[in-house]
Amino acid sequence: MKNIRILFISVLLACCGQACLAQGKAIEQVDFSNVRINDSFWSPQLKKNVEATIPVCIDQIENKTDRIKNYENAARGQGKHSGIFFDDSDVYKAMEGYAYSLINHPDAQLEAKVDEWTDKIAAAQQSDGYLNTYYTLTGLDKRWTDMDKHEMYCAGHLLEAGVAYFKATGKRKLLDVGQRMVDYMMSVFGEGKRHWVPGHEEIELALVKLYEVTGQKKYLEFAYWLLEQRGHGYGSNDPVNNTWNPIYYQDHTPVREYTSITGHAVRAMYLFCGMADVAAYIPGTGYLPTLETMWDDVVRRNMYITGGIGSSRHNEGFTADYDLPNKSAYCETCASIGMVYWNHRMNEFTGEGRYADVMERAMYNGVISGISLEGDKFFYVNPLESDGDHHRQEWYGCACCPSNVCRFIPSLGSYIYGTSKDALWINLFIGNEATIKDGKRDLRVAMETNYPWKGHTTITLKDKTKKAVKVRIPGWCKKYQLKVNGNAVECTPVNGYASISRRWKAGDKIEVDFDMPVMKIAADERVKADEGCLAVQRGPLVYCAEQADNTNVDDIRLSATTSFNTMFDSTLLGGVVKIFGSTQKRGFTLIPYYAWDNREAGKMKVWLPLLDGESIPTSQRQTYLP
Ligand SMILES: [Zn+2]
Repeated sequence: MKNIRILFISVLLACCGQACLAQGKAIEQVDFSNVRINDSFWSPQLKKNVEATIPVCIDQIENKTDRIKNYENAARGQGKHSGIFFDDSDVYKAMEGYAYSLINHPDAQLEAKVDEWTDKIAAAQQSDGYLNTYYTLTGLDKRWTDMDKHEMYCAGHLLEAGVAYFKATGKRKLLDVGQRMVDYMMSVFGEGKRHWVPGHEEIELALVKLYEVTGQKKYLEFAYWLLEQRGHGYGSNDPVNNTWNPIYYQDHTPVREYTSITGHAVRAMYLFCGMADVAAYIPGTGYLPTLETMWDDVVRRNMYITGGIGSSRHNEGFTADYDLPNKSAYCETCASIGMVYWNHRMNEFTGEGRYADVMERAMYNGVISGISLEGDKFFYVNPLESDGDHHRQEWYGCACCPSNVCRFIPSLGSYIYGTSKDALWINLFIGNEATIKDGKRDLRVAMETNYPWKGHTTITLKDKTKKAVKVRIPGWCKKYQLKVNGNAVECTPVNGYASISRRWKAGDKIEVDFDMPVMKIAADERVKADEGCLAVQRGPLVYCAEQADNTNVDDIRLSATTSFNTMFDSTLLGGVVKIFGSTQKRGFTLIPYYAWDNREAGKMKVWLPLLDGESIPTSQRQTYLP
């Protein structure tokens, strides 16, 4: 049944896809619905998403908070709004996650839950198409008076949920609700109508998804119009006092003229995704060079070793370049997820591995630190140092992060492969079986690996193909070996990919072996917080020292002469490679950063001080920057 459904939807999407070719991209995404993950590292995460994260989200949205009740009240036109004005968005993000989960884990009960919520959401929609429980319950006369009240942000998440659920089940109701809201918005805003600057970006990338699924170009053009509204003084959230801060909202300059990163981190990530998505379809936007400039600024001057961004609690965002404090690091989980979304798009645009390097860094560190090993508790803030007083919680007043994790994890299969006319691109090393389009034929691919614990991956092509296979050589990897059917292959990577061209036969095997030593990493010398410190990384994983393994975390020192041993411990933290270090005969233990705060509370540090008086010569500094 499920296969027939997906086939039907694929045909439907393929038809509209004729009109929706993303001309600007070097690589097309291979959607996770074509990728079945079977991986020792990620499969448990997917299982926990189904068994713990989704039930937590349902319980919180339906029982422990009034998010669903807000829709019931809005439908009746009476009762109070409960919670924050953007709480609708958590419902949609969770539903998007449920939809993704249904694709690889069919579950009639979960599907019934989405249908039930969809009915309640549809019933709360106004006759003109407007949908936002906050304004419906606090006064519709005040709608569209405050650009920071997230009306378009919520609409964007509604669209993403609608598109996801349509792709998962073929059911259109939620998508139709979203489309009606957009049609209504387009009757109010646009060329010759009212100006509008969404205070929290999101609608732009969602409109492109609506365009892709409907083939209606007006949605793409509306996304472009909204992007072009920024930076012209239209933004205001309070006509009397005008407290709108253009820098915080990325509204201080037209988007293509940005030169340095400012403001709220998650907003910036969603904006850049929207710009990339629009630029993929509309030639001449000038967005790509701007995005490349912004990437340099974000990654080289404002990113933590964990792929986290947005160092300040004050604006949930960026401050001065190289201002990356560890204990007070904000690094919102949503911002790391945003880094995955944005870097994935940049990789698709350019075919350059450095973007996938950052995507991988964020995924394996800053994103999955956001969820407990049990899958039922979440970090909003992801510091790189703690006194033992920072812990994951089941939910937050502002619950953007739990619902974002809920939707990210089940779609992780979308980040492994890409295709282009002449090549299959391999970006991530995750055990899976995939079916990928190769002209009119299918190309089945299987990957076996113990990554990130071991550097060896086998890729089997189960069908013949003329496509080159481009294997990403991660930026952290200094030494590797490639083999085809057991024979070593010499291949110099170009733009981060080793490209192997031949007429592949069914059953051909590519093996790649990444040397995975324990690495001592330095920060840029201008990062004051990390002065005189080193961090430890192995493969894509950043490590930390936690009190549970060490007598005193503050006593740990690194040195040029520190030696390391590694051991896989299947009983520790769901199974991890732990690192034993020794500096001048004083031993210490490190665990992967993502797994911290899953045992008794205690101190934690990523950046560890050097021995007194020791410094690292500039020539020997290995940094985490691409
Ligand atoms: Zn968040």
